[in-house]
Amino acid sequence: MNLKNIAIVAHDSKKQVLIQWLEVHIEQLKQHSFIATGTTGSLVMQNFPQLEVDIKLSGPLGGDQQIGGLIATGNIDVLIFFTDPMTAQPHDVDVKALTRLAVVYNVPTALNRASADFLITSPLFASEYNIDSNDYTAYLKRFE
Ligand code: PGA
Repeated sequence: MNLKNIAIVAHDSKKQVLIQWLEVHIEQLKQHSFIATGTTGSLVMQNFPQLEVDIKLSGPLGGDQQIGGLIATGNIDVLIFFTDPMTAQPHDVDVKALTRLAVVYNVPTALNRASADFLITSPLFASEYNIDSNDYTAYLKRFE
């Protein structure tokens, strides 16, 4: 079994969806480590005390950026981010930044429950998988 660092974030209207998703997959998930934004993480801990969750700041207070920073330093293997497309978010720029960094670093990401189901049932989820990070060498050397 390959242990993964799984980042979990859910907007308010999607928090119960995340709890339900975790419940369905708890047997498989409990062996992994979790990193979560503040309110999401507290709710997850209340519902699943058996999970190991590193709780960051609340999303609008910097938690999304903390998780983005962990992605940029190669410390997140999977991002589960249940977003609410129907409600304006005060921290919309942070939401965009987090999803952008997930793309920049080629991190497997699910923005809704169906995608999360596909991710967790993939054979790659349970095996060792080296993320082929995009090569930004040319970008870094553009002024040399
Ligand atoms: P929260 O943040 O878990 O603190 O509610 C979620 C988010 O980033 O919107």
